[in-house]
Formats: sequence, structure tokens, C-alpha cells
Amino acid sequence: MYDIAVVTSAPPHLSVEVRLTTTAAESIALSSPAPSLSAGTDVEGLIASDDRGRPLRVQPTAGGFLVAPTTGAVRFRYRLDFQNGVALSSTGSGLNAEHLYAVARGMFVAPDPASYDDARPYPLIWVHFVTPPGWHVVTGWGVDRQVYVPSGSGALLGATVAAAPDYRILADTAGGTPFVLAVRGQRHFADSTLERVVAASLRGAAALLGGVPVPQVTYTADVGSKGRTSGSLQGRSSVGLMWEPGELLERARTHDVFHETLHLWFGGAMEADRWWTEGVTDYFAALLEAQWSGRPADLADLCYQSLRNYRRIVRDTSITMAEEQRENVLGDNTTLLVYRKGMLAGLLLDAAVRRATEGEATLADVARRLLAIARLSPSRLVDDDEIRDAAVEVGGEAAGRVWRRVVAGTSPITEGEVTEALRAVTGLPVTGPAPVAKEQKVLIGHPKP
Ligand SMILES: [Zn+2]
Repeated sequence: MYDIAVVTSAPPHLSVEVRLTTTAAESIALSSPAPSLSAGTDVEGLIASDDRGRPLRVQPTAGGFLVAPTTGAVRFRYRLDFQNGVALSSTGSGLNAEHLYAVARGMFVAPDPASYDDARPYPLIWVHFVTPPGWHVVTGWGVDRQVYVPSGSGALLGATVAAAPDYRILADTAGGTPFVLAVRGQRHFADSTLERVVAASLRGAAALLGGVPVPQVTYTADVGSKGRTSGSLQGRSSVGLMWEPGELLERARTHDVFHETLHLWFGGAMEADRWWTEGVTDYFAALLEAQWSGRPADLADLCYQSLRNYRRIVRDTSITMAEEQRENVLGDNTTLLVYRKGMLAGLLLDAAVRRATEGEATLADVARRLLAIARLSPSRLVDDDEIRDAAVEVGGEAAGRVWRRVVAGTSPITEGEVTEALRAVTGLPVTGPAPVAKEQKVLIGHPKP
């Protein structure tokens, strides 16, 4: 049982008390949030005792702590400090007097999931929050009489947790699956507009790839700091969106919502190399956004934008996307091959499949095969060989050629072949990149609750 007090007086922090019951007299391995800038949190002063209050020895380990063996109840407590008032990104955490936004992985010192298996199930966890008056907690966990009950270690650590008095909660169903959208802060767009985009992304992705792979999805949308915009899937069903104060819900952010929703499939139901999980996801997001917005030219615009960014990447024809991932090249999504070339690889593979099958099959058919493979394995992992085989099974030698040049190889991608591929996918007379118009901003105010 986790008792978490949200303390907003300076410096804001969480005070966490945990009661754990063990049956075996063995040490307890606890995993701890990584003390990194991106998590935005620090664990301070962890101490443990037995149920009579006698201190237990706590040893720091590489990934957390080891608590000396005892039987019966073990208690430990720690303080979680926040480096930022506002999370720097959707994968980070922030706490101030107005709100909390955190990713569970950055919050919980928890029994190490690696020391549990089928024979020794993960402890049943309850989480109870004590928040300042009027604050509501928003998380994807199930709730039983004001106590949250994550369904296992994955659910405990893979979630977004947010709290504030002014979250505006919208609940709906789309693509056959209930979702909750929690929004706070002032935006240049109405909550209902965001809700429509979220619903469209779930509907579109479910139609393309098969039903939403989780029973419920939570979207948390908060205002981040200026110049920083990001979204991410935490665990398998919590999407966090941190957008800078001046964001518009125009094509760029709409595309982001489709991208994050698609991560429920790629990154959630199926794990793969980053070129697929990020790049091909970006391609499918563009395809769905263009379909939903009724602007078929959006797909071409987004692909040409990707091509422009891809050409600026100096290593565009010297290393493969897999090598870039292995070498841990850092950068944002405009400067990495796995995103920019990955998206174009998705387009070229899709075009090859459609041409080879005269429109009978698409890359989505390949994706559905891969999702079926992922369902058979506990790791949900699908490797590049399996992706290539599925692409060739559906798209034949034409897909194999694209694979060898673009995925396994480093041949340059030309504007001409992108244009050809866009024609094959859209059936439109695409002629080449068009200039992008600047979007207008209109501030929409929300009354204080
Ligand atoms: Zn992503």
C-alpha cells in the first residue's frame, strides 16, 4: 500500500510511505526511478523498518535498493523531490502549487519487477493519494473506493499520474474503447476539438490495425513550457501530451495525437526497432490525419517535410537506421533517421505493396501480420527479419527491393521516388512539394472552475 502525500509548500515534493507484506524471509529488491534529468525527480532519504519499527538495513544497488530480510510487514518511506515545477516533456515530471504531472516510472520505488515471475506473482498494489484540498487525481489505473489498484508491475510503473484542481475531464468511447481525456490550462483550441481528434485517432487506428489493444485509454494534456512540445505513451495505455502554451491544434499537433494513439499498437502491443516504432508510426499517423481532416494533400506535405529533414541529416547515406539506433545517436525527431527516413521507408513500402497487389493490400496488412506475431510472444517483440518477411509475403519482390535499398541499405531517397510513391498511395496527381502556409492563432479562454 502506497500512501502518497502531495506537498505543494516549498519545495514541492511527494512524501511516500509504503507498507509491504512478505511471506518469505528474504531481502527485498526495490527498483528506483533513474536519477536522470529527463525523469525530473530525485529519491531522497529512503529508510525501511519492520512492523515493530525496528530499522532495516538498506543497501543501494545499481537500479535501486536492497532491503535486509525480515518476515511480516516491511515499511519504507522516501521523499520524491521534483527538479521542475512544470515537466520539461511528457516523459518527465513536474510539481508546483498548481499541479502535478508525473510519469509513474519517475515516481515509484517499487518491488523490482525482475524478481517476480509466473511462479511468484507481483505483489498486489494499492495507491492512495493525499492531495491539497480540491485537487483531483488523473491516472489510467483502476480505482476501488478512492484507492487506485494498478493491475501489475507494468501498470504501476507504466502510467501517467496527474493531479490538480482544474483538470477538465471528458470521457467518451471511440474505436470500441472507452477513453478519458484530462485537460488543463489555457489553449488556443477548445477541449472539445482535442476530444474530437483523440476520438478520430482511436477510430482511425482501430479501423487500420484492428481493435484498440487495451481496455481503456487515458490521455492527459497539460501545458508545458515555451519551446517544448512532446507526447508519449507511458506503459501501454496512458498518453501524456505536454504542449507549449502557444500551441495550435493544427496539423502538426493533430499529427502528434494520431502518432501517440498509434503507439498503443506500435510500442504498446508490439515492440520493434525504432525506425518502425517511430518512423512507420509517423507515416501511418500522416495517412490517418490526411484521411480524417479531409485534406488528402496533408500526406504529401508531411512526407515532403520529412524528406527535407532527412536530407539535412549528414549521415543520411552513411549508416542505416538500425546502426543509428545501436549507436544511440541523440537528437529530436527532425534530426534522426529512425523518424525521418523511417517515415519515408513506411511510404515507400506502402507504395510497393499497393503497386504489387494492384491496391488489394497495403502496409496496414503487413502491420496486422506483425501485430499477430507480437501477440504470440510475451516480449511482444518483432524483429527486422520478421518485418521484412511479412513485407515480402504481402508485397512480393517490390517490397523486398525497397527493403534492401532503404531499410537494410543506405541508398539515397529521391524526391522523384517519394512523388511516385505518393501517387501510388493517394491516387492523386501529386507533382512535388508545395510551400506550407502559416497557421493563425486565436486564443480561447476557459472559465476557472
Ligand atoms: Zn513516438
